[in-house]
Amino acid sequence: MNNKIYGTLIFELSRPGRKGYSLPPCDINAKGLNALPANVLREEAPALPEADEQTVARHYTNMSNNNFGVDTGFYPLGSCTMKYNPKINEEMAALPAFTTLHPAQPDNTTQGALRLYYEEQQMLSEIAGLSEFTLNPYAGAHGELTGLMIIRAYHRSRGDEKRTKIIVPDSAHGTNPASAAVCGLQIVEVKSTERGTVDVEDLKPLLGDDIAGMMMTNPNTLGIFETEIPEIARLVHECGGLMYYDGANLNPMLGVCRPGDMGFDVMHINLHKTFSTPHGGGGPGDGPVGVRKGLEQFLPNPRVVRKEDDTFTLEYNDKALGSISTFLGNYGIIVRAYAYLLALGRDGFKMAGRLAVLNANYIKEKLKQHYLLPIDGLCKHEFVFDGLRPEYGGDHHDDTHVTTLDVAKRLLDLGFHAPTIYFPLLFHEALMIEPTETESKDTLDAFIAAMIQIAEEAKSNPQNVKSAPHHTPVTRLDDVKAVKDAIFTYQA
Ligand SMILES: *Cc1c(COP(=O)(O)O)cnc(C)c1O
Repeated sequence: MNNKIYGTLIFELSRPGRKGYSLPPCDINAKGLNALPANVLREEAPALPEADEQTVARHYTNMSNNNFGVDTGFYPLGSCTMKYNPKINEEMAALPAFTTLHPAQPDNTTQGALRLYYEEQQMLSEIAGLSEFTLNPYAGAHGELTGLMIIRAYHRSRGDEKRTKIIVPDSAHGTNPASAAVCGLQIVEVKSTERGTVDVEDLKPLLGDDIAGMMMTNPNTLGIFETEIPEIARLVHECGGLMYYDGANLNPMLGVCRPGDMGFDVMHINLHKTFSTPHGGGGPGDGPVGVRKGLEQFLPNPRVVRKEDDTFTLEYNDKALGSISTFLGNYGIIVRAYAYLLALGRDGFKMAGRLAVLNANYIKEKLKQHYLLPIDGLCKHEFVFDGLRPEYGGDHHDDTHVTTLDVAKRLLDLGFHAPTIYFPLLFHEALMIEPTETESKDTLDAFIAAMIQIAEEAKSNPQNVKSAPHHTPVTRLDDVKAVKDAIFTYQA
C-alpha cells in the first residue's frame, strides 16, 4: 500500500472544476432563488471537494481496504460481542416499507411498523423474564441512564427522596459509573473477591436507606457468572433498593437463564451486541430497557401498546420519566434484531448461548500454558488473561519485557484484530478475549496458533514483538502524541 495515497484526504485530491456527476440544466428560475431572504443565503460557496468519479471510488475503496472489520477477519474484542451479523438483517432493515416511513404519520398508516416494535418488546420480555420493554434508548449507556432514571422515578413516586447512591462493582464496564453520574447518583464501589465475583461481605456495610439500587453485570466483565446473585438481590431489596442488570452482552445467557428470575428489577440489552447489528466506530445501536411488573408506568414516552381491537398505537403517560429519544429509537436496528430473533427462534437461541461459552472456554484452555490466567475455571462468553506467563517473557514489574500492548500489536501482523487490552482494571496486563458464538473451530484454531506463535517469539525474538506491527498500513503509533496532539479539523 502506497503510504502517500493512504494518508491523502479527498480534499487534497480536489481539482477546481472536476466533476463526478452530470446533471440536467437547472430549471429553477433565478428570481425564485433570489426571493430567499438575504440572511439565509451564504456569502461564499462551500469548500466542497471537486473530483471525478473514479478518483472518488478509488479513494473510498482504498480507505475501506485499510480498515479491519468483522467481515474481514476475526475480531475477539472482549465485552464488545463483535460477532458476524447476518446480511438478511440488512435487507430487512432496507425494505422501503420501513425506510420511507415518517415518524409523524398517523397510526393507521404505520400498523406494521408498530406491530414489529410491539412483538419485539414481547420477545425481549420473554427472554429476560421481565414484564415490559422500551426499545427507545439509542445505545447501551443510554439504556443504563434510562434504567437508572426509572429507578429514581420509582423512589420519588413513593415520596422517597433520600436514595441518592448507587452501588457499582469494581469490575463494572466504565459506562456504569458514568451513566450513574449523569443521572445525578453518587457511586459507591463494591469490591470483587479473588474469584472475580462481587464480595458479599464488602457489600453488606454499604447498604442503607440512602441506596437507590445496585448495578450488576452477569456474566461480569471477567466473563464469570455471579453466583451470589440471589443473596445480593435479597440484601439490596431488604434495604429498599432496586437491582439493575447490565445485559449488554446477554448472548451467553440466552435460553439458559433470565435476569427477571434472578431477582433483577430493571435491565438493558444491547441489540447491537446480543442481537446482531454491525457496530463499532460509534454506532448506531439500540439499548432496550426492561422492567419488572409494577414499574411499567415509568418507562419513557412513547410506549407502543396493543388496543382491544388488536391494532397498535403510541401512548404517552404522565408518570413516565419523559422522553429519552425522538420517537421510537433507532428503528433500523430494531428491525435487524427482529429479523435475527425470528431467524434463530427459541432453539437457535439456546444454541447461540452455549456456543458462545464453548468457544471462549476452548480458547482459554488452549492458551493458558502460554498466557497467565488469573482466575481459572469455567468462564462464560469471555475471559481475561493477565499478559504472557513469565517463562514467555511476561513480567509485570518491567515494561522492557513483552507487554500486553506488544502482543496486541503483533496480532495485527498475523491478520487478527486485537482483543480488548488493559481492561478491566483489576489486572495490570489485562487481555480480554471474546470469540462470540459465530466463529468456526477453524478460525478459533488459527487464532490460537497465532497467539502461541507470539508467545514463542516473545521468548526467542522479543524485539520482533516489541516493534510490531510490521505489515499494517501504518506501523506502531505514538499513542501519547495522538492523545495530546489530536487534530480534529482539516486545514488546507
Ligand atoms: C458495551 C457495553 C456497554 C455500553 O454499551 P454502548 O452501546 O457502547 O453504550 C455497557 N456495559 C457493558 C458490559 C458493555 O459490554
